[in-house]
Amino acid sequence: MRRGSWQLWAAVTAVVVAGYLLIPGAGVLDGWLVTGYKTLVGCLAGVALVTGAIRRRPPAMAAWLLFGFGITANALGALVSDVYTKGFGGGNYPNIADGFWLMLYPGLFFGVAVLIRARGTARDWASTVDAMTVATGLGLLSWVFLMVPVRSDNTLTTVGQVIVLAYPVGDLMVLAMLLHLVLSGGVRNSSFWLVCSSMALFLAGDGAWATLSQLGVALPETPTRLLDMLFLLAYALFAFAAWQPSVVALGRPGEIKPPRLTLLQLTLLTAATMIAPAILALQVSRHHVTNGMAIAIGSVALFLLVVTRMAQLVRQVERQARQLRELARSDALTGLPNRRAWFDELPGALARAARDGTPLTVAMLDLDHFKAFNDELGHQAGDRLLKGAASAWAAELRIVDMLARYGGEEFILLLPSAGADLATDVLARLRAATPAGQSFSAGLAVWDGTESAEELIERADRALYAAKANGRHRTECATDRVLSEPVRTEHLA
Ligand code: GH3
Ligand code: MG
Ligand code: MG
Repeated sequence: MRRGSWQLWAAVTAVVVAGYLLIPGAGVLDGWLVTGYKTLVGCLAGVALVTGAIRRRPPAMAAWLLFGFGITANALGALVSDVYTKGFGGGNYPNIADGFWLMLYPGLFFGVAVLIRARGTARDWASTVDAMTVATGLGLLSWVFLMVPVRSDNTLTTVGQVIVLAYPVGDLMVLAMLLHLVLSGGVRNSSFWLVCSSMALFLAGDGAWATLSQLGVALPETPTRLLDMLFLLAYALFAFAAWQPSVVALGRPGEIKPPRLTLLQLTLLTAATMIAPAILALQVSRHHVTNGMAIAIGSVALFLLVVTRMAQLVRQVERQARQLRELARSDALTGLPNRRAWFDELPGALARAARDGTPLTVAMLDLDHFKAFNDELGHQAGDRLLKGAASAWAAELRIVDMLARYGGEEFILLLPSAGADLATDVLARLRAATPAGQSFSAGLAVWDGTESAEELIERADRALYAAKANGRHRTECATDRVLSEPVRTEHLA
């Protein structure tokens, strides 16, 4: 949204919300002006929200229709209440107006659920668990201080109790959804923050009402108006969110963040889990534990959530450790095992060969004139040749063989249960499979059964050197471990 439009919105919102303070109160027209103003602002916001969404056509349109429905119904609550009580002399609380006020909760809850689904972050388990942990902690608090007193309020019928209890339950559900939205991944743009701020204002307003009515405080006119203004502002912010061009990106699939635990999250979770013991300590200090069972159940739920979160993090660490191990053992370019992985394999292979009395051969391969190939066709073509050769060669090998990139354009091959003849045949097959008409030189050494791994590789390396010296495009075989010239030569040029 352009800066000018922002300023216009902000100015209109400020005037409309602040104007509420100037509306004459109960003395004039029996308070109908105040009710009318509140209702009008809320309904206009609801209509603006829906028209904004229809204009912008964001993904997850259903979310915006739900928000619009919840806000409009909620705004109508004040009017319905006045019509019912002042017009028809109906009872004050609870009454039919609660049906309207309460519609805010399903509107916000399911609206955010639809939005989270569209953002593709619904499967972000870490934030689900975090949201549930905070909601459970606050749920326990709300149970002990808000809900239990309602349950024991004899002035209310059972239906009345259910209606009154629906408010804190609704708040908790909306809070859980809001936390899930904030903690999970996906785009965070101006529309996102407007939606979150609006929901936070609704929850703050509800929390203030609940606390005041719990404490039995009847607010004078002005503070009541100020509290109402929280709701007016919340209505306006929601409508504003729907008019942002960024509302479109808000509903687009985003990335799930890898599970993290920021300091803020950790503090939030710690505070939430401390609620149960804190309530218990309070009641013990008063020598009157009235909610023992609720505290026990709340504690169990919180422990299970914390353990679940811990398990998720440990799994994540294990998964990453596995990925790291694999990364550390493979060559990035060719995908072959790297030198480290090959050297890890060799001692076991030598031990098996010694035990079974089978031959074992090691071959070193080096592409011929690779520098010239690079210089002529470019480094990327060189890379493609390395990749192509690696996969073509690997396809020619047995499952027990192990080809690794030794470095640069050098490769090393472990051939268990293979003597010089078989190894020479294998290398001939590889040579035929080498792509782009390129050739390689190879040196092979058959393990003599006693020499060390280093000595064996040293002999293969010398044989390779000899193959290069003898004109390339050939395989040389080192015959014994004494530092003599290789004798067996396979000329292929
Ligand atoms: P020789 O036949 O004697 O082996 O000659 P050569 O040109 O193959 O050998 P030399 O050692 O002179 O050059 C090897 C070249 O391999 C030099 C280097 O730039 C290139 N090289 C090493 N690693 C890579 C890589 O990962 N990608 C590409 N494209 N080139 C590489
Ligand atoms: Mg080379
Ligand atoms: Mg080389």
